[in-house]
Amino acid sequence: MRVPFLDLQALYREDATAYDAAYRRVMDSGRWILGPELSGFEAAFARYCGRRHAVGVGNGLEALRLALLVAGIGPGDEVIVPAHTFIATWLAVQQCGATPVPVEPEEGYFNISAEGVRAALSPRTRAVIPVHLYGHCADGPALEALCASQGLVLIEDAAQAQGAGWGERRVGSFGALSAFSFYPGKNLGAFGDAGAVLTDDDALAHALRLQRNYGSSQRYAHDSLGTNSRLDEVQAAWLTVRLAKLDAHNARRARVAALYAQHLAGIPGLHLPRTAPGSQPAWHLYVVQTDKRQALQQYLQAQGIETLVHYPQPVYGFAPFAAYRPTPRTRSDAICEQVLSLPMGPHLSESQVMLVCEAVRHFFEAHP
Ligand SMILES: *Cc1c(COP(=O)(O)O)cnc(C)c1O
Repeated sequence: MRVPFLDLQALYREDATAYDAAYRRVMDSGRWILGPELSGFEAAFARYCGRRHAVGVGNGLEALRLALLVAGIGPGDEVIVPAHTFIATWLAVQQCGATPVPVEPEEGYFNISAEGVRAALSPRTRAVIPVHLYGHCADGPALEALCASQGLVLIEDAAQAQGAGWGERRVGSFGALSAFSFYPGKNLGAFGDAGAVLTDDDALAHALRLQRNYGSSQRYAHDSLGTNSRLDEVQAAWLTVRLAKLDAHNARRARVAALYAQHLAGIPGLHLPRTAPGSQPAWHLYVVQTDKRQALQQYLQAQGIETLVHYPQPVYGFAPFAAYRPTPRTRSDAICEQVLSLPMGPHLSESQVMLVCEAVRHFFEAHP
């Protein structure tokens, strides 16, 4: 038995009739850009997250970049970002001409905390971008309170956390703006590239709609500068089908996480992910930590179990951002040497998860 890390075809096959019907509907409509499928998905996703507006855009990086842009962030501004994230969080800041300021994860967790952000503030800080990494919600209420008291713009990078929450609130409802990616492998994935920005602010939503479509509110009227970053009708139609399954898919992810937690507990040298009090994870990834990471990954690979490393370096470990590397060694450096993402997703059967657990146990018995 192979245990694939991800199986997008299986997800398609499971609901092929509904996806095929959505595709047919768009093809028969003859309308492929900025039509009723997009506005329908935007309304449904805004409602799901508890926001007034969702604006579909081309991908997650564009969602972040356009959120910063309409918030007025630009050259001379500092934006607080996690050291440990996917590079897109930093690239969006850099593409706006602003300066990313890294914050290390909170001790024992993967996300940044409000206290960590507070310690990194300077007179030039204008915005904070927490990432709900691996599907674990960062402390939205504490970050909102801090940003409100300091006059900072809070922008969520919610690319990995569709359906996650904190207390009674869902990811996508915190701060001024929330950026989502619907890259195929995310919890809510399209069949190609897509993204969205959510906000409660009518003026920001209007500015985003202009920005994504050449600064144009009406055809060939260009009152402002803009770009081309739209979410296609066919992707919106598929996303509408997939959104209706999101809670069920996330419940299956939570079941996988519960099995891992139950059957991998107590192995010396293996650290399981912790969930902060108040946080309801969407389990985008199940990330364990061990200083035998490479040997464990090779062992599992030989058993047909696919794993990945998210991520091999903090963002300042990559050449384009090397100038931002603090000295000496950081918490992110240590995390990046130890993390291993086990197979996770709605495609996994209980017997596949048990196979992974047995293999991990065997490995640690043989390498005490
Ligand atoms: C996937 C991801 C993005 C970027 O999304 P794309 O749609 O690939 O551009 C941004 N931030 C995080 C944390 C991500 O995981």
